[in-house]
Amino acid sequence: MNNKVVIVGAGFGGLSAASFLADEGLDVEVVEKNKQVGGRASVLEEDGFKFDMGPSWYLMPDIFDRFFGKFDHEPEDYYSLTRLDPNYRIFFKDGDQMDVPADPEKAGKLFETYEDGAEEAFESYLQKSKETYEIGMNEFVLKDRNNFRDYLSLDVLKNARGISLIKKMQDHVEEYFDNPKLQQVMQYTLVFLGGSPTNTPALYNLMSHVDFNMGVYYPEGGVYSVVEGMKQLAQEQGAEFSTGEEVKRIDRENGKNVVETENRRIEADAVVSGADYAFTEVELLPDEYTTYDEDYWNSRTYAPGAFLMYLGVEGELDNIDHHTLVLPEDWNDHFDKIFEDPEMPDNPAYYVCNASDTDDAVAPEGKSAMFVLVPIAAEMELDEEDRQRFKEMILDDLEENADTDLRGRIEYEKIFAGEEFQRRYNSFNGTALGIAHTLRQTSVFRPKQRSKQMENMYYTGQYTNPGIGVPMCLISGEHAAEKVVEDLE
Ligand SMILES: Cc1cc2nc3c(=O)[nH]c(=O)nc-3n(C[C@H](O)[C@H](O)[C@H](O)COP(=O)(O)OP(=O)(O)OC[C@H]3O[C@@H](n4cnc5c(N)ncnc54)[C@H](O)[C@@H]3O)c2cc1C
Repeated sequence: MNNKVVIVGAGFGGLSAASFLADEGLDVEVVEKNKQVGGRASVLEEDGFKFDMGPSWYLMPDIFDRFFGKFDHEPEDYYSLTRLDPNYRIFFKDGDQMDVPADPEKAGKLFETYEDGAEEAFESYLQKSKETYEIGMNEFVLKDRNNFRDYLSLDVLKNARGISLIKKMQDHVEEYFDNPKLQQVMQYTLVFLGGSPTNTPALYNLMSHVDFNMGVYYPEGGVYSVVEGMKQLAQEQGAEFSTGEEVKRIDRENGKNVVETENRRIEADAVVSGADYAFTEVELLPDEYTTYDEDYWNSRTYAPGAFLMYLGVEGELDNIDHHTLVLPEDWNDHFDKIFEDPEMPDNPAYYVCNASDTDDAVAPEGKSAMFVLVPIAAEMELDEEDRQRFKEMILDDLEENADTDLRGRIEYEKIFAGEEFQRRYNSFNGTALGIAHTLRQTSVFRPKQRSKQMENMYYTGQYTNPGIGVPMCLISGEHAAEKVVEDLE
């Protein structure tokens, strides 16, 4: 096939689709608005400090192996990985600190010190997570099931018997653990899915298998090394990249799809949008070609936005592990302020990344590159005063709860929140992660990859099935590419 395919946006979904499509011999051009590729996984390099701007947890190594394996490669051909131990550190705001070990047996023993019987409960929790992961990945994620009726086959129903669909994560976790801290350990991963314990279905307990059995890795140089590896792979398959060029309009003229940027009109046999699905439909396509209308997009449950502070700091950060979580005893109030009554949290649960703990190359000698990520409601609008007030609050919180005083040590600082997400990535409403994984927005209920209204128009990335997170976007790119090839053939 020598048809032309234009991919809009070089996030992980677009990069993945580019490799699969170019590998089929298609003439692939990726058009990206930013100078850098990687989308939400951009890199910020200033004053000798290097920050991954988005993803910092390399999880599900099996999916990366599978992805590169499709092209007879392995991740190590492009970047090297280190397994972290501990997986992460938690500062509970009652003064307690927990280092969660990479070895699940050690983790079980640690949990037993929090609650009698927790070691055994953890073992069976993890067994359940493993089963759910295996069924979930094989039946619902890796196989591309496009329609509800695909789920009604006897085989699928039989295999899915053990998966809790209706129950919520909070109820599931309470069946195993009474201790609120252990409940939080099993649930913090929901933030990766853009959900809360009360709006995410229990099937996502599979994330504990990802966390404890599969482990947490760090790609040397940061997650941007993965982006660079994927771009190189796509180029090796023959894909071309045009960066710093924003797509302004996608349309259909004389039996062809047309992509317009400021200076060019590109004719294509197929278009795959890896830009935010909602943005593509509302801003780039004429109404007649949208599958979902503005009301649909306005009525979705959006994953949180993020208040991010990238900080270049003098000295080492002795108390901050590579991945560190700071959690209040009761985090429901924070979740309510994200999903129910949008407001800035006054006692936030947040994540601190200190890549300098593992990698000397991300900061000048004797200095540290860190970032703080506070999940907030996607639509929060913050002026400069709000931002500075919130920053000071987080600095106080770090001093009080993580024994880390940053004042007087900050040499570089950048705050990045909803407005920047919109400006840099054309994020719809300023969301960091697109739409959440509620039951009504999971799997077949996520927006479709193949447009229902426009011929040869497709979507990839975190809005589509399987959803949020780097590994999921790799799979989404593969499934989108399969549809393009199927239709062009
Ligand atoms: C702060 C943060 C932390 C995260 N942490 C993790 C983590 O630790 N681990 C993990 O697995 N996942 C994590 N995620 C989630 C993960 O990063 C995303 O799910 C994933 O990167 C999304 O990829 P995507 O392909 O859907 O879209 P994007 O990355 O958003 O890519 C879309 C691309 O399209 C471009 N674009 C938009 N409009 C146009 C246009 N008109 N013309 C041309 N180009 C356009 C954008 O510039 C962008 O480059 C995190 C996300 C964020 C924001």
